[in-house]
Amino acid sequence: MKVVTIIGARPQFIKAATVSRVIATREDISEVIVHTGQHYDANMSDVFFEELAIPRPDHHLGIGGCSHGQMTGRQLEAIEKVLLAEMPDMVLVYGDTNSTLAGALSAVKLHIPVAHIEAGLRSYNRRMPEEINRILTDHASDWLFAPTETAVANLRREGLPEERIALVGDVMYDATLFYRERARPPEWWDNIQVEPGQFILATVHRAENTDDPVRLSAILAGLAASEHPVIMPMHPRTRTKIDEFGLTLPDGIHAVPPVGYLDMNWLEAHSWMIATDSGGVQKEAYFHGKRCVTLREETEWVELVESGWNVLVGADFDNIFSGLRGSGSKISSPFYGDGDAAARIVKGLMGEV
Ligand code: UDP
Repeated sequence: MKVVTIIGARPQFIKAATVSRVIATREDISEVIVHTGQHYDANMSDVFFEELAIPRPDHHLGIGGCSHGQMTGRQLEAIEKVLLAEMPDMVLVYGDTNSTLAGALSAVKLHIPVAHIEAGLRSYNRRMPEEINRILTDHASDWLFAPTETAVANLRREGLPEERIALVGDVMYDATLFYRERARPPEWWDNIQVEPGQFILATVHRAENTDDPVRLSAILAGLAASEHPVIMPMHPRTRTKIDEFGLTLPDGIHAVPPVGYLDMNWLEAHSWMIATDSGGVQKEAYFHGKRCVTLREETEWVELVESGWNVLVGADFDNIFSGLRGSGSKISSPFYGDGDAAARIVKGLMGEV
């Protein structure tokens, strides 16, 4: 069987690395990788291919850095050409970016079966571009590989046929387990005066936070008010917006360029607490046994809020400040499977379960 994998953004490289590794062990599947170019900086793209040993993309479309409509439209057109040339048996798409939607739409219109990995997530906030991408991708897909029970329930509620849905666990948990051993401190670690176990690791990149100067400055102020120093690997969009709005980074926030996945794992494992608006980082906090303060009003990963590991604080100074001091009981459970999600997905695709 021949599969075409469509990826383009940082979290997709990490998710796809787990499945590509399983595919590489089998002689009966060949994989063609298409990189849409949605993320193109070396530290948002190349570093992941190198560190995670993802095979080099067979096709690089170079379509990023434009508006949502333009990006999705241009990717749709370019992916269609690749699919017509490759004629795969199936297309794999991951997560909820414009590349996910463009990949799913191009394939389904050519009658090529689509598998959506990380299906069924919902924030129920339709102003998030990711929410629209997920809903449309799920409804265009033939296989829906859901990471959690909640995701399965969401798909059922939308009337998606039972035979398309499989609960497999979360490929990001597979990735954490596999790469945890190789985690290492970033090369700048010795240059900053921060003790392991004593810092807050923060990431901010959701458009609702970066594109609103009131929210962005409240988040920065709330983080800086903590008694713990903050290390913030800065997404390019956040850096651009801070400059555009003329905001100054408060003392106590150490901004660094985006880090590779192995560095990020080390920082997560050695943090005191994590503050983020990232979907993936919320879960990685849990995988590393850290509390998480989520800089959003809602989350797709509701089990972490219900179990006490995660608190939703939005972009409110007081909530962020108190969230970062928070304690309380936490319940652990295998919410994200057993670390074999990628193997289950590949078996599912091959009709072996
Ligand atoms: N990540 C990373 N370096 C960074 C920030 C994040 O390797 O500087 C990783 C993080 O560990 C997680 C993934 O990127 O695996 C999350 O991606 P992102 O926050 O961009 O997207 P989301 O999960 O919100 O879709």
